[in-house]
Amino acid sequence: MTERARLTKIGWEEDLAIETSEAPLAEPSGNQVLVEVEACGVCFRDCIDRAGRFKFIQTPITPGHEAVGRVIAVGPNVTDWSIGDRVASTHRDYCGQCEPCKRESGSLCQGAAGVLGLMIDGGYASHLLAPERCFYAMPDGIPAAEAAVLHCTFGTAYRGLARFGGVEAGQQVLVTGANGGVGSAAVQVASRLGATVTAVTRDESHRAYLTGLGAEHVIVDAGDRFHKQLSAGPVNLVMDCVGPPTFNSALRSLRPGGRIIVVGNVVEERASVNLGFIVTRGLQIIGSSGATRADMKAVLDLHAKKPFSIPIQEQLELAQADRAQRMVQAGGLHGRLVLVPSAQ
Ligand SMILES: [Zn+2]
Ligand SMILES: [Zn+2]
Repeated sequence: MTERARLTKIGWEEDLAIETSEAPLAEPSGNQVLVEVEACGVCFRDCIDRAGRFKFIQTPITPGHEAVGRVIAVGPNVTDWSIGDRVASTHRDYCGQCEPCKRESGSLCQGAAGVLGLMIDGGYASHLLAPERCFYAMPDGIPAAEAAVLHCTFGTAYRGLARFGGVEAGQQVLVTGANGGVGSAAVQVASRLGATVTAVTRDESHRAYLTGLGAEHVIVDAGDRFHKQLSAGPVNLVMDCVGPPTFNSALRSLRPGGRIIVVGNVVEERASVNLGFIVTRGLQIIGSSGATRADMKAVLDLHAKKPFSIPIQEQLELAQADRAQRMVQAGGLHGRLVLVPSAQ
């Protein structure tokens, strides 16, 4: 039996449907692989997808871009994987030929159009049929729930901090939304790379948690005044996981020549920016999303040396997909939700 969740109508009025089928498994064609899904993370981006904020979403569609599982069939043109390989998904397919792909930025690929959960069916399913480049290698020892969410949290944090931020040992790094999925990963990655980390959160109750993850300083702030509370002075690098509510205070936290890596945009409002401040202080604003296979190898190497804390709040049956998305949309969770298919 196969099982999958379906988003048939944009928005929150209708629940996600759960479909089961006794039909034979899909046969991969071309460069597709068929993956038996162990687990799939429920990401805030899934809620953004459902709300229709990406106009190119194609419905009906199976949501989910955070799947992990085992390859059980390969198409005739597949070169990267064999039956039995354990793999986890990135956000999307890439062509390997276009200019961003050649610069190792598959997340900006202009040649391949397959974004999981938006343009091709994603991982809220017992089986995921997708192009082989949607996946990276996942070692056997990592539990399914943690393996599922690693790309979108630690991969995003690593790529932003290391590849675009150029973070070095001894630098000062500030992370906004530090208790969230990417934020808590960024605190850990930055401190593992030798930076001194300041974590910004809205809630005093997160202080001990963030200190435990490696934050040297924790600032509790609504989002617009934390730059006035930097006990060690302005920082080299900010990873902004929130967006408009924190963006200006994040800019004002930077030293001259500093960089802000923007990975989050959790509200629909736009940020208003004093451009003169950016010009005169020589600041750099860099957007980043997802991570490449090379980034994920670096993340997995760091994890193997000393395991990251990957917070999982709850594992739910796939049939609970709608409830899980509504929990993520409501916010206030202390870790990720992961869906586990019951049918195999
Ligand atoms: Zn995600
Ligand atoms: Zn490409």
